[in-house]
Amino acid sequence: MELTGRLHRELLTFQCMLKIYCNKHHNSPQQPLCEDCTAVQKYAEKRLQHCPFGIEKPTCANCHVHCYKKEMRDKVRSIMRYAGPRMLFSHPLLAILHILDGKKQSKTGGTTR
Ligand code: SF4
Ligand SMILES: [Zn+2]
Repeated sequence: MELTGRLHRELLTFQCMLKIYCNKHHNSPQQPLCEDCTAVQKYAEKRLQHCPFGIEKPTCANCHVHCYKKEMRDKVRSIMRYAGPRMLFSHPLLAILHILDGKKQSKTGGTTR
């Protein structure tokens, strides 16, 4: 399923974070992503496509369901912790929109931070 609108933007934001993280941690300047990070990207895309909240989804960090398996959740946390602040310099618009998404009160029970 093709992601559109806000879900597509969320995927783009995550892909940018993944590139920042992978380039630094996995020394993969030749390719966009190493094999491991490619698997994380595919997994995150699938989760977004099957998110039960659809367009009303909270940011995953604010979600009470957390559909990610533990191993992937831990990886995504590490990626976001490293790349999140750096996004403000490399992709400021995406970073700010993501921060704003995280501050919105979800209609689905997700919490704000
Ligand atoms: S963690 Fe929550 S918001 Fe994120 S994709 Fe899974 S169900 Fe949707
Ligand atoms: Zn990598």
